[in-house]
Amino acid sequence: MTNGNLSVLISATAFAAAKHRNQRRKDADASPYINHPIALASVLVNEAGINDLTVIVAALLHDTIEDTTTTTEELLSAFGEEIAAVVLEVTDDKSLDKAERKRLQVEHAENLSLGAKLVKLADKVCNLRDIRLTPPADWPLERRREYFDWAKRVVDGLRGAHSRLEQLFDAEYAERP
Ligand code: NDP
Ligand code: ZN
Repeated sequence: MTNGNLSVLISATAFAAAKHRNQRRKDADASPYINHPIALASVLVNEAGINDLTVIVAALLHDTIEDTTTTTEELLSAFGEEIAAVVLEVTDDKSLDKAERKRLQVEHAENLSLGAKLVKLADKVCNLRDIRLTPPADWPLERRREYFDWAKRVVDGLRGAHSRLEQLFDAEYAERP
């Protein structure tokens, strides 16, 4: 890896860690939020064999706009247009209610760019793992099942993007609670 690529990778990790520093996941232990974007990057690189820097950096940054005060302009000036565009593609419109956001993820899946599809596939792999192994403390069985089924509907719209990532998702889905 070139020094430039290594620098972008570490800058994105540090940027996401700073932005998510006061956030926690929904599991019983309230794990640090940053574990989640790092888990996506690890799935992409170490499990799916993907080495596209834009995709890996976008994965590290994927929840910064949606879940922190990060603006599009900040991402543009720190990481450039290509990376910012992928992050925006995987960012839900928070002015809509949750049910509508979930419906739109299914509807938009097939029209995403390839890079955004890879980030979204890794996100769904990681969230199914989290729900299976370290679920939100107050989610009954039915809600965990509904999440698995909704995630599958999103992923069905992403198919054809990357067979190994799709296999990783299918292996998680096979463990549906
Ligand atoms: P949320 O969208 O509220 O929570 C799921 C999201 O939380 C994940 O996509 C993930 O987002 C993030 N997350 C943080 N920690 C964890 C973790 N440990 N495990 C998994 N995900 C985690 O929940 P729902 O998907 O259920 O969406 C809400 C919808 O559910 C609404 O439409 C509402 O009407 C409905 N609902 C259903 C209920 C039921 O019992 N069936 C009860 C209440 C509401 P990210 O990848 O962005 O980090
Ligand atoms: Zn996520």
